[in-house]
Amino acid sequence: MNTEELIPHFEEMKKVLNGKIDDDQLRKELDTYLNAYHVTIEAAKRGIMRKYGVGDTSSFVTANTISKKVGDLKGNEMNVDITAKTVYVDKKEITVRGNQKIIISGIIGDETGTAPFTIWEGENVELEKGEIYLFKNAYTKKWNDRVQINLGSRGKIEPIKDIKIDVTEKTITIDSQDMKIGDIHDGVGNVTVSGRIISVEARNIIVKEEPKVVYSGIIADNSGKIQFSAWNDYGLKEGESICVKNAYIRAWRGIPQLNLGDKCEVSRIDDSFGQIDATASKKTVADIIKIGGGLDISVTGTVVDLRTGSGLIKRCPECNRSVLNDQCTTHGQITPVLDLRMKLVIDDGTGAISAIVNCEDTTKLTGITLEAAKGLAQAKGEIEVVGRDMAPLIIMKKITVTGNVMSDDYGPMMIVKSANIEKTDVIAEAEKLYNDVEAAL
Ligand SMILES: [Zn+2]
Repeated sequence: MNTEELIPHFEEMKKVLNGKIDDDQLRKELDTYLNAYHVTIEAAKRGIMRKYGVGDTSSFVTANTISKKVGDLKGNEMNVDITAKTVYVDKKEITVRGNQKIIISGIIGDETGTAPFTIWEGENVELEKGEIYLFKNAYTKKWNDRVQINLGSRGKIEPIKDIKIDVTEKTITIDSQDMKIGDIHDGVGNVTVSGRIISVEARNIIVKEEPKVVYSGIIADNSGKIQFSAWNDYGLKEGESICVKNAYIRAWRGIPQLNLGDKCEVSRIDDSFGQIDATASKKTVADIIKIGGGLDISVTGTVVDLRTGSGLIKRCPECNRSVLNDQCTTHGQITPVLDLRMKLVIDDGTGAISAIVNCEDTTKLTGITLEAAKGLAQAKGEIEVVGRDMAPLIIMKKITVTGNVMSDDYGPMMIVKSANIEKTDVIAEAEKLYNDVEAAL
């Protein structure tokens, strides 16, 4: 056991001993028990306590593992066993200091309550939703007034058969937090949101070989909009305003989606949203990085780079993917079609975002048409010339782009639906500078 791991035990013993021995003496005692007697930390603690006349060690949270109900967790347990049912399970790969790692997170509960959990070493762990498990040697923390259960390298998961646990419904409702739509991001858990239905349509899908109808569309408030899917028929209509309690959030490539599942309550409310800009919501890059992505977001910034793969490119006529050397990974040898696009890096002072600009907007921003690009490429005998000529026409320009934003390991990326150069009044700026200089003389 290293020193760092000993600190909580040390602090705890100090508290229980209440000044009976000083720190040096306690350190010496611990060293004797652990390194000379080779006993476990728990045995060492009990031994030292007995020696100094402290009989009751039940107040130790770090003592021998104790079992607790979810509702009794305090958020400071260092070694606790919890038997509970999984309400929700999510397995994902994350990058920690450059290494890929599998973590499993979700919610477990029993009759006394529910709490979120994270299994930090999830490589060889399989959890089923709705099953009962013993979470062994867990530790807990408190975050935003909620207890979180963690399982580290010393933790263990054991499936438990033959017992029944009814998870209390009440606490799941309390878990749901009120949010503005524009603030919703992956990992917020259950939410309560209010908004106006911008669009809704019924789609027939197959779930586990059963036909099902899902009602999906867009809901918005004055902070943003989000795609929703309702798995029951709430009779949702375009233009009406609703409050959705207990919806859950799933994200696809950083774009959060609102799911109205079985635990969800939908009620009609008075519309208090006023004018909702259904076309776009303006955000800074820092905001976007915080939420991960979203629909129809507008960003204004300076183009700081034009990445490779910009200019005149070749696409597979079958799948539209960009190709090199007339070879598509799916369709083999092809006769490519030519297209124009830009991969921009835009910086707004709060951060940088990649933006993919289509042919039409590339022409609008640079003045270069697809025909002109083809002509230039033919004249020079290479297509790369177009990207090179394009760079000085767009770099350092201030532009506004609008589109859907996704996120991956490389950060946020926008598929641009519309783009505009922000006109800076050069003469006015020059005049202002001149006046400033004159005033300073
Ligand atoms: Zn193809």
